[in-house]
Amino acid sequence: MPPEPPGNTAATWARIRARLRDEVGEVEYRTWLRQMSLSSIESDEVVITLPTRFLRDWVNSHYGDRLRAFWQAEHGGVRRVAILVAPSTGLEEAQAGLAQRVDVPPGRSARPAEPRAPEARSEWIAPLEPRFTFDTFVVGKPNEFAHACARRVAERPATPGFNPMFLYGGVGLGKTHLMHAIAWTIREGEPTRTVAYMSAEKFMYRFINSLRTQSTMEFKETLRAVDVLMIDDLQFLIGKDNTQEEFFHTFNALVDQGKQIVVSSDKPPADLAGIEDRLRTRLGHGMVADLHATTYELRLSILQAKAAAAQVTIPAKVLELLANKITANVRELEGALNRLVAHANLFGRPVTLDSAQEVLGDLLRAHERRVSIEEIQRKVADHYNLRMNDMISARRARNVARPRQVAMYLAKQLTQRSLPEIGRRFGGRDHTTVMHAVSRVTELIGQDVALAEDVALLRKMLET
Ligand code: ADP
Ligand code: MG
Repeated sequence: MPPEPPGNTAATWARIRARLRDEVGEVEYRTWLRQMSLSSIESDEVVITLPTRFLRDWVNSHYGDRLRAFWQAEHGGVRRVAILVAPSTGLEEAQAGLAQRVDVPPGRSARPAEPRAPEARSEWIAPLEPRFTFDTFVVGKPNEFAHACARRVAERPATPGFNPMFLYGGVGLGKTHLMHAIAWTIREGEPTRTVAYMSAEKFMYRFINSLRTQSTMEFKETLRAVDVLMIDDLQFLIGKDNTQEEFFHTFNALVDQGKQIVVSSDKPPADLAGIEDRLRTRLGHGMVADLHATTYELRLSILQAKAAAAQVTIPAKVLELLANKITANVRELEGALNRLVAHANLFGRPVTLDSAQEVLGDLLRAHERRVSIEEIQRKVADHYNLRMNDMISARRARNVARPRQVAMYLAKQLTQRSLPEIGRRFGGRDHTTVMHAVSRVTELIGQDVALAEDVALLRKMLET
């Protein structure tokens, strides 16, 4: 990725929007940010407009820092991002493309941004998100190990066995959140320690820039002087051999000095094909912790915590609906909840199941699963080596009854069928039998790891 020639403002803006979209997720992006329009760039100030005051205030308070950080990453000269209200021009959609034009209100000229000045040291370190602390991280089965490791590293950095810490997991499961939480904790405990957090992409960008400006010595020295180095989304370095090489040297230098390294990735070290063997090996030598896909229970606790933090009362039924339907990642879940919260604040009306369905209609439909009870029965029977007939038979042997309960539980979770309807489909059982199955399995998931894994696996197979 060669650095952009300065002045290619349209491309820069498109890139910033794309990064924001990646960071906040599609739902949130569409709700709040899509209508942003780049108005002008005056020496050190970027002006962005939105069509309403409400949007302006929201974007200002929720994304203002990110916008500024992204602009600064692109153009070191940018000091301020001003967000103003201006009537919509109807060009927003067109601006999503690379070949966008920049709207210039009369009296202002769209000057290209200043060429990048050599960066100051403080700019080496990406800003930390204030929301990403241990306090706001909700712990459940799928993330408790990673969370415990993160805490441990935050409290006693560079403990042998925990260095490097390699954190991996799918998109939106909390890797960045945990890394920022570690950084906050270390900074709080010992403000003199330098904690450098940056994405692997940023690392590469800095490195390339240092080559270009012949300041690689400074690059190396700065990084080797930190106490804790955190590199997010390491998979970005796959196939980027020179940057990997540089990272490897930095890595070794820091570990030799007894400094803590934390790295995140979407895959475990062994699966990082395209990362040099010797680096992969070293990455796996400390603590490797993974964030598993969320469970229904974790999603529900996260929603409860976030609704409470936003001080908005949202009926349990609505939270259950979201936890049931939006299973891909926590970021999307948050996006949906934020939309409900905003709606409630905007119209001053309480959220109900109906209003939620209306507000989130497109989103919920996109996540609609068309799983049938029969499909569930078949998958569960296969998984436990049973016959389809065992799902509806009256046999009560544990090895048959338990899988049947799992199937009923999944039928309740994954379909819209009522309890009596599910009962009928399981050999004409009573709805109280289904209810019992659901609560029994829910309880067992918290106690029996093997069963919890079975259920998670089955759910995954049925959902995709
Ligand atoms: P990743 O880096 O793994 O893609 P993030 O750390 O950016 O994911 O998390 C995405 C969003 O979901 C963030 O807003 C984060 O705060 C939130 N999130 C993820 N996991 C949790 C959790 N266990 N508790 C609270 N919020 C979470
Ligand atoms: Mg991340």
